[in-house]
Amino acid sequence: MRINEVLAEIDEVCKQCDKPKPLVICVSKTYPCSAIEEAYSYGMRDFGENKVQELMQKMQEIDLPIKWHLIGHLQTNKVKYIIGKVALIHSIDSLKLLNEVEIQAKKHNVTADVLLQINVAKEQSKSGFYEEEIEDVLAYVTTLRNVRVKGLMMIAPFVEDPQENAVYFAKLHEIYVDIQKQNLDNISMEILSSGMSNDFKVAIEEGSNCVRIGTAIFGSRNY
Ligand SMILES: *Cc1c(COP(=O)(O)O)cnc(C)c1O
Repeated sequence: MRINEVLAEIDEVCKQCDKPKPLVICVSKTYPCSAIEEAYSYGMRDFGENKVQELMQKMQEIDLPIKWHLIGHLQTNKVKYIIGKVALIHSIDSLKLLNEVEIQAKKHNVTADVLLQINVAKEQSKSGFYEEEIEDVLAYVTTLRNVRVKGLMMIAPFVEDPQENAVYFAKLHEIYVDIQKQNLDNISMEILSSGMSNDFKVAIEEGSNCVRIGTAIFGSRNY
């Protein structure tokens, strides 16, 4: 478990670029519950999973006040299982999914906090809204009653040198600030979720306030 090393690296970056400390989400997908409990014992409270079934199993097995984050692509038919149980859904990538979250949240009499996933680099292999779609998505969100958009999320392209992604992190931050200024109903820009094991430093430098880190903390994954 390299949690203390990772937290120290994050502190160092924040000091260097004079940014506040981001929320650190431990991405526990594929790792056993014992790894989550160990990270919890180091003071970590936010954990991210990318599959609904694995998330539900871990929620059942672990009896700790953890804030769970759904960070992977979410199928519409699985929304009903996680509404009211997760702190935040990071991966809203279609209007259909937004609509289903609204329906299920209403049914459970809760307000669902979500992030909009943005595909800044327009990668075919990734989901998320393109920049030019955002205006319509925001207009739709303002009509919803049981969904609150809390910010944006991005998965940056996989590159050898994370510095190459600085432009995408910066662009995402620019979009975030622009939406913040609009003061729309149901929409507040509080969480900018970007940066993973290989690129969290650049992400923080460019304005991320929420990093999702798996392998740097838990070691390489065994799929
Ligand atoms: C797996 C995953 C991460 C963490 O990736 P690491 O490279 O292990 O830090 C972050 N975000 C999402 C959406 C993921 O699926």
